[in-house]
Amino acid sequence: MAAMSGFLTILVLIFLAFACFVIYFIFKQMEFVLTATNLYRKMVTRQDAMIKLLIDIRDGTKQLDSEKIPETFKELFDEEGRQISSQITTKDRMTRVTAGLCPKCGGKVSSTDQNCPFCKINLLFARQHLDEL
Ligand SMILES: [Zn+2]
Repeated sequence: MAAMSGFLTILVLIFLAFACFVIYFIFKQMEFVLTATNLYRKMVTRQDAMIKLLIDIRDGTKQLDSEKIPETFKELFDEEGRQISSQITTKDRMTRVTAGLCPKCGGKVSSTDQNCPFCKINLLFARQHLDEL
């Protein structure tokens, strides 16, 4: 009789262990499904962004917003976007520095800027080398 109840106890323990494993397994599966769903959503978002970009490239609809470019910056470039620097003299660059503009591109710079926000040149260097720009 004692051997019989001992055997039953072992059976119950094995069953409990199996039940715990099944529950753990189900939760792991749910976790995997959630992770996969989130990843899929992110992929869809990124694909949408990429498709928009590709459509813009195909149709040429994403044009440079010319209103955001300062006037003095625009006159430095020709129609195809090539830089025209030969027209700018050292005197012009000095005028730009006194007007609070970048000596190289003529973009508006604030007194705290270390680099020009438009052409990225170091402003200290640019002001000291006006004839080399
Ligand atoms: Zn600049």
